[in-house]
Amino acid sequence: MQLSGRVAIVTGAGQGIGKAIALKLASYGADIAAVDVNLEKAQEIAKEAQSMGRRAMAIKADVTSVKETEEMAEKVFNDLEAIHVLVNNAGITRDGLILRMKEEDWDAVIGVNLKGAFNCSKAVLKYMTKMKWGRIVNIASVVGEMGNAGQANYAASKAGVIGLTKSIAREFASRNITCNAVAPGFIETAMTDALSDKVKEDLLKHIPLGRLGGPNDVAMGVLFLSSNAAGYITGHVLDINGGMVMA
Ligand code: NAD
Repeated sequence: MQLSGRVAIVTGAGQGIGKAIALKLASYGADIAAVDVNLEKAQEIAKEAQSMGRRAMAIKADVTSVKETEEMAEKVFNDLEAIHVLVNNAGITRDGLILRMKEEDWDAVIGVNLKGAFNCSKAVLKYMTKMKWGRIVNIASVVGEMGNAGQANYAASKAGVIGLTKSIAREFASRNITCNAVAPGFIETAMTDALSDKVKEDLLKHIPLGRLGGPNDVAMGVLFLSSNAAGYITGHVLDINGGMVMA
């Protein structure tokens, strides 16, 4: 699963799962572009990757913007001379029951989680096509597979990401570009810190492995799907959820 000589873009790399993914890919040899709306945090990740001896850059970009994602891809290709791997990880939640969900909460979540993955994929695919090699890994979620009361916008965005993944996989297979998704269960990050202890206890009853996941659990799956070892896998959704949902 060595990634030496590969250039990987990770969106939402500033913290949580994205940070773990960026540093995992760097530790296996990849040069890294850490992309986030929070430039300072992205810079910290890039510095850490540089301290491992990798080329690394931090880019401030909002994945909802076509212009910013196109400029981001162009900058990575110009500075690091390739784009081999894209991890669409940037994501947000704006939870609420449907009858109380505001239009802006629906639009914001679909905008970052689904349109953001489309924008970044479109921006890098022209470079990957030129290179005749590419790996796109989209971070979906277990709730995109099973739904979740109070998360209609989030679950719909993640189900959409799974459809996007399979469509890219079919359109670009002939160019030697694979596209897969990872569907994490409940992972301990800032996103899940907000859950009360009671909710966490209830969740654990539905997780056969008996613990919430960690960012590293997700990063290992992304590493595999980004590597040569996964060359014959495309359009797949890899569940990393402690057995919570078994397809
Ligand atoms: P997080 O909130 O800790 O980190 C998200 C990062 O994305 C932040 O650094 C943030 O600045 C960045 N970001 C947000 N909006 C952005 C935008 N418009 N453009 C660029 N960057 C943006 O979240 P996390 O828990 O690490 O989640 C990472 C991904 O994993 C998300 O897609 C999330 O939906 C998914 N996921 C998380 C869990 C979980 O339990 N934590 C479970 C399943 C899936």
